[in-house]
Amino acid sequence: MAIFLLKNHKILISSIVASTVLAAPPATAEESSYVGIAKLFPGIQKLCEPVPKPYPNFMTNYVYKFPESFPEAKVFDNLYYLGNHAASSWAIKTEEGIILIDTLDNEEEAKFSIEGGLKKLGLDPSTIKFIIITHGHIDHYGGARYLAEKYRARVIMGEKDWEKAAQRAKVGLPAGFTTPSRDISVKSRDQVTLGSTTVKMIITPGHTRGTISMIFPVTDKGVRRNVAFWGGMGLNLGPNIEPYSAYAKSADLMKSEAYSNKAQIFLSNHAKFDYADKKIEINKNTNSGNAFTNTTPEIVGAFGLLAHCAQSQIEFIKQDGVNGGAKVGRGAE
Ligand SMILES: [Zn+2]
Repeated sequence: MAIFLLKNHKILISSIVASTVLAAPPATAEESSYVGIAKLFPGIQKLCEPVPKPYPNFMTNYVYKFPESFPEAKVFDNLYYLGNHAASSWAIKTEEGIILIDTLDNEEEAKFSIEGGLKKLGLDPSTIKFIIITHGHIDHYGGARYLAEKYRARVIMGEKDWEKAAQRAKVGLPAGFTTPSRDISVKSRDQVTLGSTTVKMIITPGHTRGTISMIFPVTDKGVRRNVAFWGGMGLNLGPNIEPYSAYAKSADLMKSEAYSNKAQIFLSNHAKFDYADKKIEINKNTNSGNAFTNTTPEIVGAFGLLAHCAQSQIEFIKQDGVNGGAKVGRGAE
């Protein structure tokens, strides 16, 4: 068990002891036909479409422009959206400070959307204590160094993705981009606790090898609900089968986690996949319920659909293989 203490703050990271994950339930009516789930989660359904060729290579070809902004928003009593239309950053507010999930591209965006967004929402950026980076792609960790140094926050990433970020830095970063100093590396089922909020982190290889997905609680007008957060969405993983198989296996794992934790909310780090921007708009215009809330079988179905989409990509590659040949190992990322 690893314990990290910060001055004046009761902060604990520990491995979950003897945590039992229940087996995934039998297929529900929604799940057996993904049609209903696809209608509820059209952003996920997009991942079932064949990936356009040529495959993008995230290691070298990141064409950057300042993304179209989207207004910061309070989504639940203790959860805030700070992203833009390209990528998301989420702030979990606790009694002891903020746990931030992802940091957008760079310092400029961190200043504009994260610091600026928190201030507009009445929150204090200097209370950011932990920064969880879902995965080692620069559109998620690029703002981390600036925030971590300014606010003395600890940065958490999966071990494989710390390595990946270091490798990316060697290739050379776009102007204005930085890599956070290596800090906390987590294992699957480690958890971070700040105040009375605990975020359980699950390593879900696929989108990258060290992607962190999460289970954490929010309250919705005082009612506690669990979020199942998928840490790496895109299936633009190159011509090789391995990462797609890993992705499908990880989606099945999170399906079990969503079930055993009775998750009712699906979130990710790109609004184009979880429709966070659209749901925020819906919430602005209605007083009945919260557009981010689903039933647990629907969330379980969403992870089933993710696994199904990854499997579909494998089938597409095999079909391509009639002409080109599927490859073993990992491809572009
Ligand atoms: Zn990514």
